[in-house]
Amino acid sequence: SEADARRRCASPLFRRGVFIPDFATLQPARLGLGLRRRLIERGALVYERSRMRRLDSSPDGVTVETDAGSVRAGAAVLAVGPASRALRRLRSRLTVTSSHIVLTEPVPDVVAELGWTGGECITDGRTLVHYFRTTRDGRILLGWGGGRPAYGSRLNGRVEVDPDAAKTAHAALLRLFPGLKSRRITHAWGGPIDVSPSHIPQIGTLPGAPVHFALGFTGNGVGPSNLAGRTLASLALGRADDLTRLPIVEAEAGAWVPPEPIAWLGGSLVRGALVRREQEEEAGRRAGPLTRAVCAAPRAFGIHLSR
Ligand SMILES: Cc1cc2nc3c(=O)[nH]c(=O)nc-3n(C[C@H](O)[C@H](O)[C@H](O)COP(=O)(O)OP(=O)(O)OC[C@H]3O[C@@H](n4cnc5c(N)ncnc54)[C@H](O)[C@@H]3O)c2cc1C
Repeated sequence: SEADARRRCASPLFRRGVFIPDFATLQPARLGLGLRRRLIERGALVYERSRMRRLDSSPDGVTVETDAGSVRAGAAVLAVGPASRALRRLRSRLTVTSSHIVLTEPVPDVVAELGWTGGECITDGRTLVHYFRTTRDGRILLGWGGGRPAYGSRLNGRVEVDPDAAKTAHAALLRLFPGLKSRRITHAWGGPIDVSPSHIPQIGTLPGAPVHFALGFTGNGVGPSNLAGRTLASLALGRADDLTRLPIVEAEAGAWVPPEPIAWLGGSLVRGALVRREQEEEAGRRAGPLTRAVCAAPRAFGIHLSR
């Protein structure tokens, strides 16, 4: 109920909610650094800042070119997230959009006033999702998954940092928590999101090449990439086990992403319509028929949107 939702966090916008008691939050950078330490302790060699420039493969093995030299191996694992779109053979499996975050200065008084002291991470039910949480030092963080689509495999520019997207995220933060009006935003950042047409990650092997990939986490990869990583290890080692037999391995992409500029034009149109629809719905109005039709268009092409 509205009262129950607001007891956890007293935002004036909350109407009702679902409480999931066994959720947890984690700091993904710490997770990454911890995993890296464990790997090095086990004897793995980690070469950082060695960008793959080219990947050649044959049924017998792969060669990866970097600026400093090349590596030959029996198999390769591609876990490059949104950069997968730069590879011709994976391009039609994903689109790339972006997510942006704003972080306040420490505001323990606002957090206390909201009664938001249980450490809950909260997300709304929009397609262009808002996600928000408190931090240990009493800040509030809000992210918005409504950034502009990337053109082709271009991942720099507004896909990384889009001041407009950060401004929109900040405006949402103030609507959700009006008590933050006079408080400072100390950090804002963004990053590309690898969106799968089915909204389900894709794990598989390129036909005729020992190149195994996982992509399309669609903004929810921190937990699932662990399972994907273990599955990729099994695939690279040529094992047939419970992981490689998971239904998600070699599952269909759901739909193929069209070539550019169609993907970018279509993605931009749909994103604009979703922004308009969600603005109208937040104000308690129904979006116009054209906006609703554009929002529904991806479904006609087999592309799944979360709502
Ligand atoms: C702002 C933002 C908020 C997010 N919030 C959440 C969240 O709340 N919960 C959640 O579950 N997920 C969230 N995500 C998504 C999550 O970060 C990803 O799904 C997850 O990191 C995917 O892991 P990955 O290993 O597939 O790819 P990544 O973590 O993207 O790692 C890919 C790596 O490949 C490297 N790389 C790329 N190209 C090359 C190349 N040519 N050569 C060598 N290396 C290369 C990159 O530098 C990068 O280090 C968020 C993402 C963003 C941007």
